[in-house]
Amino acid sequence: MPTIVSTPTEWRSLRKSLAGRSVGFVPTMGNLHEGHIDLCRRARAENDIVVASIFVNPTQFNQASDFEKYARTLEADKKLLAGAGVDYLFHPDAKDMYPDDYSIKVGEEEIAKELEGAFRPGHFTGMLTVVMKLLNIIGAERAYFGEKDFQQLLLVKKMVAALFMPVEIIACPTVRAQNGLALSSRNARLTPEQLEKAPLLAELLQSGMSDAAVMKKLEEAGFKPEYVDTRWGRRLAAAWLGDVRLIDNVPAVNGGAAQNAAGQHNEVCHAAVSGCG
Ligand code: AMP
Repeated sequence: MPTIVSTPTEWRSLRKSLAGRSVGFVPTMGNLHEGHIDLCRRARAENDIVVASIFVNPTQFNQASDFEKYARTLEADKKLLAGAGVDYLFHPDAKDMYPDDYSIKVGEEEIAKELEGAFRPGHFTGMLTVVMKLLNIIGAERAYFGEKDFQQLLLVKKMVAALFMPVEIIACPTVRAQNGLALSSRNARLTPEQLEKAPLLAELLQSGMSDAAVMKKLEEAGFKPEYVDTRWGRRLAAAWLGDVRLIDNVPAVNGGAAQNAAGQHNEVCHAAVSGCG
């Protein structure tokens, strides 16, 4: 089992004893699945020491109910981390992560306003703030993030470059179920019927249809899509199935069929912007 470390101070003194050894870090919110474990395996292969964190970060949730409903499965998570050869699990309390009561924040003013940022106001500020804290605490050589959360990955890379943070951000491909559904902790909240429908999201994103046509097909199938959009060489979407919000993205056909030569997107398909979980 990984050694549990509960406070930043405890980890800091441990980190000193690991001087000279490379550390790979995998930040998560727990309720782990094969997507998270894939990041841990990659970290295991590339570093002397592997640290994962489990912290359900309150500041990146738009609705208190989504934060409360987020599954906490620490005992099962520890076993999965042990199986992937993770050495340490950093599992702090909110009071230790936010000694300032969230009065200090890290924000971004461009990418963070688009797509996920438009539908989830404040989400990326909460995410960047906690990722910065975690990266500062852990002091890893490398940190591993999934392409599943593509906009998050772009923002973390941008923050690390802009603030000269001494860590390499490694992007890992999305792990999917056999039927194509991107693995996500939230999938467990889908009903059997919704679970059958959910792979359609990935299937349509990979199709040659336009963003607008994909949006329409999703609506017809009973999803409530928020956006389907092609940019950054990806086709990205968010859609609700019942009260579960799914996000996914795939490489855009021809690196972005809907992009012009300047790399600017020219096809956006959004539902009305609204606050959501
Ligand atoms: P989360 O626990 O949802 O905050 O995710 C923690 C990390 O795991 C993030 O870097 C995610 O992008 C990554 N992740 C989540 N699901 C997947 C997946 N299906 N494939 C690859 N990485 C994933």
